Amino acid sequence: MFACSDIIFYDTLANLSISLPVDNNPKVCYSLIVKTKDLLGLKELTADEIGEILDLSAEMKQLLLSGHKKSTRMAGKNVAHAFYEPSTRTAVSFDEAAKILGAVSCGMSVANSAAAKKGENLMDTAKVLSAMKFDVIVIRHQSAGAPHFIAKHVTASVVNAGDGRNEHPTQALLDMLTMKERFGKLKGLKVAIVGDVKNSRVARSNIYGLSKMGAEIRIACPDTLLFSGSDDMSKNYSVKFFTNPEDAVRDADVVMALRLQLERMSGGLVPSIAEYHTLYGVDDRLLSFAKKDCLVMHPGPVNRGVELATSVMDSERSLIDDQVTSGVAVRMAVLTLLTGCKEVRP
Ligand code: ASP
Ligand code: ASP
Repeated sequence: MFACSDIIFYDTLANLSISLPVDNNPKVCYSLIVKTKDLLGLKELTADEIGEILDLSAEMKQLLLSGHKKSTRMAGKNVAHAFYEPSTRTAVSFDEAAKILGAVSCGMSVANSAAAKKGENLMDTAKVLSAMKFDVIVIRHQSAGAPHFIAKHVTASVVNAGDGRNEHPTQALLDMLTMKERFGKLKGLKVAIVGDVKNSRVARSNIYGLSKMGAEIRIACPDTLLFSGSDDMSKNYSVKFFTNPEDAVRDADVVMALRLQLERMSGGLVPSIAEYHTLYGVDDRLLSFAKKDCLVMHPGPVNRGVELATSVMDSERSLIDDQVTSGVAVRMAVLTLLTGCKEVRP
């Protein structure tokens, strides 16, 4: 039996296919589509790569939902979690994913760590992590591009768990998995995203990912919460921007509300929280413009009664809990693929 370390590795540029020999039988090989060392964003991935991650995530979800949440696919591997911004579900789900797969999982509260407090720069922290021989470094950072910078300088695989306002690829993947399971497809789905798009890495990753998978995205937000470059975005991706949420949600299959990211606002972008809720809060009235069986999502954490009315959040339309479960499955798939530990199927 070959161990994970027997797998042939490659890097992003060497467009080699990967062979995963099992039981010394060279015929049983699996050619992976995902060939990158790192997962930094969905902007860089192809539809086939996203499709492969979603397929494997669906398998991982079955394992997660089974009574036996244990695998040895990542035995002998180790994963570091470096979160420079607070996180509950993302950090815990990466940790859970690594542990279920049999990897050694090391959480680092870097935001309060000696490194950050004593002035060590990001590059030096990355070198330390590299010297500790981690196979994967999962990083969340307040600066856009920080994971990309680290990825260039370490041999470990780097997973972006959210970089500033740029991307949050595993969040969009888990959103897509949740939708795909409910609707059986992503192609042709009408997805309305309502809220603080300017500050949202979730919105950007979903625009890239959903658009590549053939969905139609409509964004609704006040002008003050729109990012610059939206015109270019509409030229390159299947996305339209609206200020009136009723126009965005018309006939939508899914309405995704985004959190008002008060920690990233320098002030004055919304007149008041109450007014925001009246105009952009996702409630039963707004949903009456969508398809009758339209489902509702939110990446969390939710400001209850602000982005989402309590009646909607607690209703059967809400996929929020399922999104969290999908998050563990997607992170299991991503860790597996990046470390080349995908189990070979005959
Ligand atoms: N910001 C949320 C949390 O920390 C979800 C995430 O981490 O992406 O719970
Ligand atoms: N959890 C998501 C993120 O970390 C969304 C949010 O925090 O509102 O970007």
